[in-house]
Amino acid sequence: MIVDIAVFSPLRGSFSYLWPDSLGEPVPGLRVRVPFGRSTRSGLVTGIREAQGHDEAGLKTVIDRLDATPLYDAARLRWLARAGRYYAASPGEMAETAFAWAASEDKRRWRIGSREGLEAFDAPLAGAFGKRSVLSGGALGRKLPHDGFYHRLNLAAAADLLLEETSPPDAGDVGGSASKEAIPAQLNPAQQDALDSILSAEGFAPFLLFGCTGSGKTEVYLRAAAERIRAGGKVLILVPEIGLTPQWLDRLRSRFSRVAVWHSGLSDVERLAMRRELSEAEVLVGTRSALFLPLPELAMIVVDEEHDTSFKQQEGVHYHARDLAVLLAQEAGVPVVLGSATPGLESWQRAGEGRYGLLELPERISPHAAPVIEPVDMRGVEAPLSGELIAALKAVKDEGRQSLLYLNRRGYAPALMCGACGDVPECPACSLRLTLHRKRRQLRCHACGFVRPVPVICEACGEEALLPMGEGTEKVEEQLQEALPELSFARLDRDTVRGAGALMQRLDDFAAGRLDCLIGTQMLVKGHHFPNVTLVGVVNADLGLSMPDFRAGERWWQQLTQVIGRTGRGAHAGRVIVQTRNPGMAWLSRIGDEQARQTLSDELELRRALQYPPFARWVRLTLSAVRADAAREAGEMLAARCTHLPEPVRCAGPMPCSVERLAGRYRFEIVLRDATGKHLPWVLEPLLSGLRLASAVRLKVDVDPLDMM
Ligand code: ADP
Ligand code: ZN
Repeated sequence: MIVDIAVFSPLRGSFSYLWPDSLGEPVPGLRVRVPFGRSTRSGLVTGIREAQGHDEAGLKTVIDRLDATPLYDAARLRWLARAGRYYAASPGEMAETAFAWAASEDKRRWRIGSREGLEAFDAPLAGAFGKRSVLSGGALGRKLPHDGFYHRLNLAAAADLLLEETSPPDAGDVGGSASKEAIPAQLNPAQQDALDSILSAEGFAPFLLFGCTGSGKTEVYLRAAAERIRAGGKVLILVPEIGLTPQWLDRLRSRFSRVAVWHSGLSDVERLAMRRELSEAEVLVGTRSALFLPLPELAMIVVDEEHDTSFKQQEGVHYHARDLAVLLAQEAGVPVVLGSATPGLESWQRAGEGRYGLLELPERISPHAAPVIEPVDMRGVEAPLSGELIAALKAVKDEGRQSLLYLNRRGYAPALMCGACGDVPECPACSLRLTLHRKRRQLRCHACGFVRPVPVICEACGEEALLPMGEGTEKVEEQLQEALPELSFARLDRDTVRGAGALMQRLDDFAAGRLDCLIGTQMLVKGHHFPNVTLVGVVNADLGLSMPDFRAGERWWQQLTQVIGRTGRGAHAGRVIVQTRNPGMAWLSRIGDEQARQTLSDELELRRALQYPPFARWVRLTLSAVRADAAREAGEMLAARCTHLPEPVRCAGPMPCSVERLAGRYRFEIVLRDATGKHLPWVLEPLLSGLRLASAVRLKVDVDPLDMM
């Protein structure tokens, strides 16, 4: 037999190998180990054929078979192939991304079920255990020839002679649940309509659940999930990177008996435990990569906060988990519900065209009208927080309620500037300013992680005149400490909260009332439900709008509308104070739930007029190298090839990226645009497959790019 293998490598094309009889029958979807160049790699069986005559000559032989049976069923394998084609990834790269969760094979621990049995079945394997009865796959593998090693393990396991050793730490258990929320007795009519539509769907049915903040979207999909589970299915719920709060988990666990949780912070042991729990779980909730876990009997997919940019992977295969979720629902023939108060324009457009069913929840559950926005003019105000905002924070504290301060900027100040010559220290590896972190006395690059001590004198002119410019969360904290010492607060950003556990702990402290105020970056925004919050302060509404990105307005609007939606969700009405140096700006009147429909429609019209996404499909090709010349030359070569693309595809570049240098590499980009949406991304494969790049040059292919920096 000859098998085609998608080898886990960015090299394009499929690779043929001989299949040895010792590995049993080949099946598409099995993971294998194969010799590749001078090393061995994993790969996925994609095709099987009879060897005919001498086409075997020169073929290498598959070394090992990692799976007894394929991890994916036929629908999932079709989905994976489509995903790879859409994102112009090599089949191997796509498979490697998809099976990353299963990569810790050698960490699996095996216990001998019956020593005599194992000795009779596979004496060398029994011998490898020595006196022990439990060993990891890795440890066993070092004692046995590696050809066919995992296959032997799997055979012994299938005969119950080896059992997987389980250590049962519960992955998602963090913090104590502060307040158990009651399950609402009855849905309101809009919720009921939405639920009915979802439940009456048969086969593939995509929905956009567009409901303002606090309108009870979560309640709708939890009920839909419960129904699907009652009918014997399982439900996948994707949440943004930061969405896995204890509150969320409590809500799930109070309704479902078996909830599996997946996020990037899990240890190897927890990942292995998840793998075993998957077949038992009713609900799998997780961040974007949870999409790749083979949840059996999939009956529905939910993507919560579908507009969130953390669903887009920015490394390797640049996939969008929301879009792949829709594709998976299609292959699996199940409904998919995308929920948001501030839908992405892509989904809004599809709903408008009738491709997604639009389900609307126009009203908040809380009896209070949406808060009125109180702008505060910051022109002439030196400190980061105005007198009005300080007074409001105090009043809220005195009433025993809580507040959130939103500032999308970490650190003490965005940059240091020399008052004498105007020089701003930059990262030596990136064309970006360094951010001042005062407590640690450091300047940091937020792109590559470069850190240096704060200089005393300006390196450009030698004067001792370096001053902080603008404000970050750390500076806000400092002012609060002075102005309101009685307020207990914490910062919530990537500097103060490392890892999912710490984040959940802090959110839990806040939910339980152990903190009066959270100061934070976008982490604050994501779908949290804190009924006792009655004040939201936006420290600087001017940030983010001036970015040279056509999506800046959309993003800003989404973030501000979401942040405002965190207030007044419980029994008490909320206030929103927005500080700005530009109180007349048009965007200010657009934030909030009432303006959502109008804002989305206006913005969509603008995109249509400009032929920007979602009315055109874009692909961004980024070439980087340590030497600028090498990156530019590769860009020119690739751009020259692009002239052969079909007419409607426009090619711009190569041009230097907005962030020209990143982590020591010079970057050039080519942007392909297709206003018909018919050619991209399909023409990429022939464009890229014959491409030979110098080894110093790296190419990133980003289909539907969100990040244009
Ligand atoms: P969203 O997901 O739209 O932000 P949630 O589903 O979190 O909204 O609902 C906000 C709050 O309202 C939650 O405390 C939820 O339990 C409650 N809630 C939702 N639906 C109802 C209902 N029909 N009756 C009473 N309370 C409800
Ligand atoms: Zn840097």
